[in-house]
Amino acid sequence: MKNEGIQPTTTMEKIVSLAKRRGFIFPNSEIYGGLNSCWDYGPLGVELKNNVKRAWWKRVVQQRDDMVGLDAGILMHPRVWEASGHVEGFTDPLVDCKSCKQRFRADHISGEKCPECGGELTEPRKFNLMFRTHLGPVEDEAAIVYLRPETAQGIFVNFLNVLNSTRKKLPFGVAQIGKSFRNEITPGNFIFRTREFEQMEIEYFVQPGTDEEFFDHWLKERYNWYINLGVNPERLRIREHTPDELAHYAKKCCDIEYLFPMGWSELEGVANRTDFDLRRHSETSGVHLDYFDQETGEHYFPYVIEPSAGADRATLCFLLDAYHEEPDKDEIRVVLRFHPELAPIKVAVLPLSRKEPLVAMAKEIRSELARHWMTTYDDAKSIGRRYRRQDEIGTPYCVTVDFDSLEDKAVTIRDRDTMEQIRIPVAELVPVLREKLGF
Ligand code: ATP
Repeated sequence: MKNEGIQPTTTMEKIVSLAKRRGFIFPNSEIYGGLNSCWDYGPLGVELKNNVKRAWWKRVVQQRDDMVGLDAGILMHPRVWEASGHVEGFTDPLVDCKSCKQRFRADHISGEKCPECGGELTEPRKFNLMFRTHLGPVEDEAAIVYLRPETAQGIFVNFLNVLNSTRKKLPFGVAQIGKSFRNEITPGNFIFRTREFEQMEIEYFVQPGTDEEFFDHWLKERYNWYINLGVNPERLRIREHTPDELAHYAKKCCDIEYLFPMGWSELEGVANRTDFDLRRHSETSGVHLDYFDQETGEHYFPYVIEPSAGADRATLCFLLDAYHEEPDKDEIRVVLRFHPELAPIKVAVLPLSRKEPLVAMAKEIRSELARHWMTTYDDAKSIGRRYRRQDEIGTPYCVTVDFDSLEDKAVTIRDRDTMEQIRIPVAELVPVLREKLGF
């Protein structure tokens, strides 16, 4: 087994603390004591998560000619969720402890006693994970709508709109990024499992019979995406669902799992949803969501391959996997070795001193670089400390402006990973950094 002996990069406590201290992720509504398992993305976190979403979109939409994007609403017609099976079946088995009153997901605990206090548990009952609310001012049953628990259905109900407006031919896919909501019984592990989260989903429509081949294609493609963005392959594995784990609509499903601090857990699922959704929506709505194959002259329901990833889970995985600690004299150097595409800040500009001519030159350089990339400017404390501060948030390059710079119009670029420094003319800064960053 290639993954044997590999450990998580760090503990969740360290990541939660770094994330708060440096402005990646804050507890939600903190001044009111926080809201259970809800989190807010801070100035660096929003950059990181946007970069994750951008990298995904670039790979699955921009760089392919068989994919298009969509941005459907969070609120949808309630019959969508009847047709999809969510009203009836989107449930988790809930058990209560009769002694300490805590609640658990029956499929997440082993044994028949409460994992907290050893008390007796109730029989499992079905708990529907969809959040319900009312549309408009009348709060009666007829006005019930749900906050979508997955983005996928927005794609299925727009299948004909996409087909007719783009004139795509099978196989083709639709990608969507957006918020989903699940009233999870036991959220937790930081942003791994929350009740409000963002998904990055693809529904890829294929001719029945070619579904297995495209399932393999997408599983490989999605697995490689994480590796190409720097995740250590030893902390990634693929796990196929057993028949009793399979969702009601799925013919096959594989999870891409990452070695999180709490153990191997799902990062992304790739499922073969067959023609379940298009067929069900056709039956329920009366509108035929089928495909006319001009080559064979047949009408049929396409099969669907669904790679479904979480933007927050992916962000957590990239954050954890980038984390490194190294001895540094008597201290510990913490470095986030983000792939340059994901790093929240690409370049930090640091004047060696706060003397006016240096500051003016550094600010000018910074504003030139800011036209191309996210940058930051820092003139507080020693240069060594400033390098460490940038290492800790994963900035790939620091540009230092010193007293010689005023004379020779050259600056030093310092590399986060090798800590090597090179001196180059200011005039060459943009092309050199572009070459180093790769964009
Ligand atoms: P689980 O069995 O762990 O509850 P699931 O198999 O129901 O999850 P999917 O429906 O396959 O999850 O969701 C696809 C992806 O959406 C997941 O791989 C994950 O990245 C993300 N996701 C799902 N639920 C949550 C959540 N509560 N918080 C954060 N991300 C989530």
